[in-house]
Amino acid sequence: MTIRVLSVASEAVPLVKTGGLADVAGALPSAVAPHGVEMTTLLPGYPAVMKALVRARALHTWDSLLGEKARLLGGKINGHPLLVVDAPAYYQRDGGPYSDVDGRDWLDNWQRFAAFGRAAADIAGGMVKARRFDAVHAHDWQAAMALAYMRFAPPEGTKPLPSVMTIHNMAFQGFYGADKFPALGLPSQAWSLDGVEYHGGVGFLKAGLEAASAITTVSPTYAREIRTAEFGMGLEGLILSRGEKVSGIVNGIDTAQWNPETDPALASRFSARALAKRQANKGALEAEFGLEPGDGPLFVVITRLTWQKGMDVLLEVIDHLVGIGGRLALLGSGDKAMENAFHAAAMRHPGKIGVRIGYDEALSHRMQAGGDAILVPSRFEPCGLTQLYGLAYGCVPVVARTGGLADTVIDANLAAVMGGVATGVQFNGMNYASLADAVSRAVTLFWQHDTWRGIQRAGMKTDFSWSRSGKAYADLYAKLIAEA
Ligand code: ADP
Repeated sequence: MTIRVLSVASEAVPLVKTGGLADVAGALPSAVAPHGVEMTTLLPGYPAVMKALVRARALHTWDSLLGEKARLLGGKINGHPLLVVDAPAYYQRDGGPYSDVDGRDWLDNWQRFAAFGRAAADIAGGMVKARRFDAVHAHDWQAAMALAYMRFAPPEGTKPLPSVMTIHNMAFQGFYGADKFPALGLPSQAWSLDGVEYHGGVGFLKAGLEAASAITTVSPTYAREIRTAEFGMGLEGLILSRGEKVSGIVNGIDTAQWNPETDPALASRFSARALAKRQANKGALEAEFGLEPGDGPLFVVITRLTWQKGMDVLLEVIDHLVGIGGRLALLGSGDKAMENAFHAAAMRHPGKIGVRIGYDEALSHRMQAGGDAILVPSRFEPCGLTQLYGLAYGCVPVVARTGGLADTVIDANLAAVMGGVATGVQFNGMNYASLADAVSRAVTLFWQHDTWRGIQRAGMKTDFSWSRSGKAYADLYAKLIAEA
């Protein structure tokens, strides 16, 4: 019997992406399909999403979706069913999904994503006769209110479906003032300790976590870490209280998009067996970043430039990295002060440090193919995708031992190297000394060419496809449906 799941997400590749959430939401329907799950994705009708809808049929209209007119449109994404909340007043805007062209958050994000949740709850309640579901899967705070509406204000006469709330990043919670509560259209009992009330305001993610039948996050280590004050960002008590209902399922990678044997973005395609062909990509990358060509290790970084990603510490370590013969190519965007600081580092070390500010998917592929090692010095990392792409492309990950980075990379300690299972370098505690030491270790290993090739090959052979995680999600849906 097919299980029908409504996946509620504010981003999904290839239509709209600001981070890893989009990769996961985009890949999930194909990942669970082999395990008897038909997944329908619900997205807000941003301009890019509306453009991609061809011959869309209107399945429903709302005269007032929290105050604005809206329609529900049906389409396809990656060959799977798609539903789109077409509410021009909320979503038909230039800029990003959450912010204007200058990067300032939209002031009505609370209303835009409450409305999105309200729409999801209506659909889950059977509003569209032709689209019935057995379970709902909500991603991050932008979708979390779906579960609160299902619980406190379900469509008349309906019973809430089993639900999964996935935390892709606990740092983003959707926290707003209490003055917003009346406009949410929730009954007064929703304003409670186990409802949407959170520290005297409205907590979207918090409300979703309270209402969900099960909570997942994107790695087992992060699932443990968010029970502590250091990583729980204030929600550690709630996570602890949900006990066994909280689990971690590691993200897979889209192996159709990320395969060095077929990747059209690369100067030279390669594989674990034909690793020598990788070399041409390094030369191309050096040229692209204006770096001096050389035999020494080329580090790459592909990231949002934020405190989470440890980029402030990397800035301090750059002189050391160059001092021991390393070079660095960085692609990122975000914090303006950090962007400037990386530009300044590139000026200080001409030919050794290359910086590209912006978001460039194809370049990110060329960097994974041409770099020797990818640095991921995150302070916390729910799963992380760039280290997985690095593994697949022979770009050895050098990572902080936290969250998904701890779960997906095997440190090149002596035993792991001797056993042929090492896939990268891990370090404890994110600070100058530990990152500098990890960079030094990577450089030393790099010059031991046979060992380095062994590490590259072990990483490239690791299976990070979605097959295992797809089954884990499918099993979870089936279990929750059986328990309901
Ligand atoms: P997060 O979701 O916290 O940003 P992840 O590692 O889970 O971190 O996912 C980041 C995704 O975004 C990866 O697919 C990565 O390749 C991509 N990415 C991040 N910054 C850039 C950039 N500047 N250009 C291209 N791709 C980027």
